[in-house]
Amino acid sequence: MPPAQPTVLILAGTTEATELASALDAAGVDVISSLAGVTSAPAERAGRVRRGGFGGVAGLHRYLVENRVDLVVDATHPFAARMPHHAARAAGLAGVPACRLIRDPWQATDGDRWIEVDSLDEAAAALAAVGARRVLLTTGRQSVAPFVRCADQWFLVRSIEPLEHEMPNMTAILERGPYDVGRERALMASHRIDTLVSKNSGGSATEAKLTASRELGVNVVMIRRPPQPIGVDTATSVPAAVAWTESTLASLC
Ligand code: NAP
Repeated sequence: MPPAQPTVLILAGTTEATELASALDAAGVDVISSLAGVTSAPAERAGRVRRGGFGGVAGLHRYLVENRVDLVVDATHPFAARMPHHAARAAGLAGVPACRLIRDPWQATDGDRWIEVDSLDEAAAALAAVGARRVLLTTGRQSVAPFVRCADQWFLVRSIEPLEHEMPNMTAILERGPYDVGRERALMASHRIDTLVSKNSGGSATEAKLTASRELGVNVVMIRRPPQPIGVDTATSVPAAVAWTESTLASLC
């Protein structure tokens, strides 16, 4: 029989994690959302909340056992490089079913001028190759350091939280999506942006910069996602993660 009130641990850090907590809480699930603790003002969410790292695979394994967690949904960001691997290994050790909730990546379409790279370092190196002079950098507050060596470019750096590094040849703006195409086009045009650097995060909230880039003929240096754990159940939307949770709970004896 499935547990009377099952406990689901959501590894959070995305809008989808917040939406999933609401959906499962409304369905009577005991939800624990785990936040890394890096965001100064995280969104309010339904259910219980814990903060901070677990202490690697061993710490997460211990947490799953001690808190009698029935299921894990890893809804961390597509660019969270470590947590998805820790989650898959710890859940496997504890015998707890796990699912990776990860939205689909963006795909280039007709008119896009993308160069795809595998890292921030490769993105910095690609700027000279595409003849970039004025760059919109949208890769996050911790991602400026690799671009410090790019003396031939000027950067408009947009982030949600204040930057960890600054450069003399940059202007920083703090903004949180969602963004619309008209404003993105106006921002790029007013700063005469010729190149956008973006992680391939996917999703609709920040997609407008890609449409604006296409319309303005702006080059895009697109950073591919880090490798995901192999052999883990995957859901690409919140409804799919809810369906996975319901069917997996129903199958628990
Ligand atoms: P990461 O490389 O996968 O994680 C680094 C460490 O942070 C993990 O080993 C873990 O520490 C802790 N951690 C990460 N997510 C956690 C969570 N949900 N609950 C508890 N501990 C967590 O990830 P990151 O790139 O540093 O990102 C940190 C957080 O920010 C993630 O939750 C992610 O979803 C969110 N985020 C990341 C990006 C990005 O571009 N990387 C963008 C937006 C949001 P222990 O090993 O001690 O358990």
